[in-house]
Amino acid sequence: MQVFKFGGASVKDAQGVRNVERVLLQCGAENTIVVVSAMGKTTNNLEKIVQYHLEGNPLWKEVLEDVRRIHYAVMEELFPRKEHTVYQEVEHVLTQIRLICQAPPEHDYNMHYDRIVSYGEIISTRIVSAFLNDSGWNNQWLDARKLIKTDANHRFARINWSFTEVLVQQAIRPNNNYVIQGFIGSDDNLHATTLGREGSDYTASVLAYVLNAGEVCIWKDVPGVLNGDPKVFSDVKLINHISYREAIELAYFGASVIHPKTIQPLQRKDIPLYVKSFLEPGNPGTRISNGPDLSPELPIFIRKTDQAILKISTRDLAFIVEENLSAIYNIFHRYGTRVNLMQNSAVSSRFCINNDPISTPKVVAELQKDFDVEFETDITLFTIRHDKGNSRETLGSIGEVRMEQRTPNVMQFAAK
Ligand code: ASP
Ligand code: MG
Repeated sequence: MQVFKFGGASVKDAQGVRNVERVLLQCGAENTIVVVSAMGKTTNNLEKIVQYHLEGNPLWKEVLEDVRRIHYAVMEELFPRKEHTVYQEVEHVLTQIRLICQAPPEHDYNMHYDRIVSYGEIISTRIVSAFLNDSGWNNQWLDARKLIKTDANHRFARINWSFTEVLVQQAIRPNNNYVIQGFIGSDDNLHATTLGREGSDYTASVLAYVLNAGEVCIWKDVPGVLNGDPKVFSDVKLINHISYREAIELAYFGASVIHPKTIQPLQRKDIPLYVKSFLEPGNPGTRISNGPDLSPELPIFIRKTDQAILKISTRDLAFIVEENLSAIYNIFHRYGTRVNLMQNSAVSSRFCINNDPISTPKVVAELQKDFDVEFETDITLFTIRHDKGNSRETLGSIGEVRMEQRTPNVMQFAAK
């Protein structure tokens, strides 16, 4: 079995969906599970619907209308026949969202979020699966909410591995092809859950693990893993091979090519992960597996936006000691806050965190009960790994540096 994953950008329009078929044909894909994300910016739009609905703002209707229009434009191009069942399938999902939003919001925000946001992948997979079946790449549509079992930690759900393994192995037969949603699952009560933004890579890796797949391939709009994001840095080059360990480090520091949780399950079963271009499917791309850390050995540049710096000080100049740090981290843990950089002085600590618009204000409010908190947003974190001595110049001007940290292998700058 092999697992292919197509992200939201690769299926953002009709041409993208057609290209999925081209990739599958060109690879002679058989015995393949295709994991698909929501189309284009659908997840962001669904997040907006959740937010408006919670605020009692009727604008949710307009955003839902946008979601509908965007998907209909794709469908009308791919399925000229209006009687095609895919229209009913998609309409059914849109009706579900409308019904949820016409009722008062549920008590638990994160649960409510998962219920609505998970529909993006249901719609995209309905469209992709139907199109592939029409074009002769026979496949079965699967509902990840029935197969990927998680705990009830909504928005950041954790996989129930043993349960998932049993269900997936029962559902998947050799010599068949499947299309399934990334990013989503369900808890013990069959409530939809999501695995964290950009979590579709992780779904591909979970499926590969429980099925002992031969390989995973993530199809992207870049030739593979480059030593910097080409949209941000000039003169970037393709890395042919990356070790699992180095890939985990890169993903952790914010290299957006792979979701950080993707690597570990693959590494445990020594399943290679390829990152390839969906525009040039015949090219080798990047292979992530056991072996040398990086080949060729190039410095790696990573830019991570949407950061915030929290400066947390004890009141009355008391020392910041283990007890305080443990209380602070406890709060971060409760709200799923990701800390990317940390520095201590005698009476204060600074943290560069992922600025999640929903949880960060709650974290700050919680911290303010016991500490003085200064809070700065619009921070960008730059990380350079494997510096060859001149990488800081390559980075160029990055704004005002607010935090800086260097170890022999890693340089980091949090800048405004
Ligand atoms: N659609 C989800 C998101 O945008 C998951 C993914 O794209 O991997 O976060
Ligand atoms: Mg996406």
